[in-house]
Amino acid sequence: MTKEVDVVVIGAGPAGSVASSKLIKEGLKVLVLEKMQFPRFVIGESLLPHSMDYLDELNLLPAVEALKFQVKTGACFFHDGERCDFLFENQFSDGWSYTFQVKRADFDHALIKEVEKQGAEVEFQAEVTDVKTSAATQVVTYRDANGDIHEVHCRFVMDASGYGRVLPQMFNLEVPVATPPRGAVFAHLDDTRRTPEDGRNIFVHAFNDNTAWIWSIPFSDGTASVGIVGDKDFVEECYADGGKLFKQKVAEFPGLNGRYDGVEFMFEPRLIVNYAVSVKQVYGEGYVLCGNSTEFLDPIFSSGVTLAISSGYKAAALVAKQLNGEQVDWEKDYSVVLKKGIDVFRTYVLAWYEGTLGDIFFSEKIDETIRQQICSVLAGYVWDETNPFVKKHSTLVNAVAHIVKM
Ligand code: FAD
Repeated sequence: MTKEVDVVVIGAGPAGSVASSKLIKEGLKVLVLEKMQFPRFVIGESLLPHSMDYLDELNLLPAVEALKFQVKTGACFFHDGERCDFLFENQFSDGWSYTFQVKRADFDHALIKEVEKQGAEVEFQAEVTDVKTSAATQVVTYRDANGDIHEVHCRFVMDASGYGRVLPQMFNLEVPVATPPRGAVFAHLDDTRRTPEDGRNIFVHAFNDNTAWIWSIPFSDGTASVGIVGDKDFVEECYADGGKLFKQKVAEFPGLNGRYDGVEFMFEPRLIVNYAVSVKQVYGEGYVLCGNSTEFLDPIFSSGVTLAISSGYKAAALVAKQLNGEQVDWEKDYSVVLKKGIDVFRTYVLAWYEGTLGDIFFSEKIDETIRQQICSVLAGYVWDETNPFVKKHSTLVNAVAHIVKM
């Protein structure tokens, strides 16, 4: 017999979990289809405070807190011996002053298990292979762990398949981004030499004339995630020969002061390239995209999971509205709203690689109010239009950079 539900959610990452939780809260019957067996590894381990608003509202926070993740209270940026600190308690928006650094295998697993308890049906090792959408019924085909094929009928499909990009590929929605091809090499390492302050922050060191940077994300179990992001050719060089150059950089990088020199690697360096991609539309008849399935530009400001969570929540609220018989203007209420938030981060990402953001970060001329307003962007509050660095992001960042350089 063909299964029937209100909504099929593709993918059980943060976007899929949060979307499903919101749909359940709105009284809908939800089936989550997840290709992998959980827990599974995925990169993207530093959250932003704004993600806490959604986790809290959906009552998912207690399950996350129970795992005693490393508390994250700020971000430190370094360049050429200069340092700039942002503490989330000193921000313009009325938001959370902390969040967590998470091993995604544990975080994502905890979220989806909690959403299952809330009432979603979740099937792991269920790979979506085909989707047919129309104004009325949607038909989703998937392959289960035994290789058997199943069909589900539903009223709406939410694509939260992240790097899987199921509907963007199936419906030919992908468009390239204008940024140059970049990639990352990363690993988890022993991090027992850290100071308490090292534990509370994400550290980002720019090098190679701002074309590359190294991250250090401490976990609560005394390990850390360390990675290098840069032009594709450079990171491939770092990865070659068993990650020889990566290991050398991690051990000797001046800003890390030997914190990782000679330490044990939990796994050999891994490579990910060409992750930046966008789509020409984020919704269509009977479906909507959320999370990384929409667009992912760059990891520099740790925005990915927070955007995944917020887009999953926003899209699910509109799906519920539509399925409850109300009119939804998907362009105005979702596409434009989502784009606004993503565009704020885009401005900061581009300015980071151009060096103009560094001019602001490392300038002594920047007053406390401006720092607090920028801090709120870095905390993920990119829809707070009372913040001039959100509302006028594209002009203000360049104008302020110009002034500090004069
Ligand atoms: P995912 O977490 O990718 O989940 C999607 C799920 O869909 C997966 O479990 C997958 O198995 C499943 N799926 C795929 N195809 C199918 C299918 N056909 N059928 C069923 N299921 C399917 N973000 C941060 O917030 N902080 C960071 O510090 C950070 N660092 C990053 C560093 C790098 C180098 C990169 C590349 C990214 C980083 N990100 C970071 C971004 C982060 O990885 C993503 O934004 C985030 O994982 C997106 O969540 P999601 O729920 O959209 O997708």
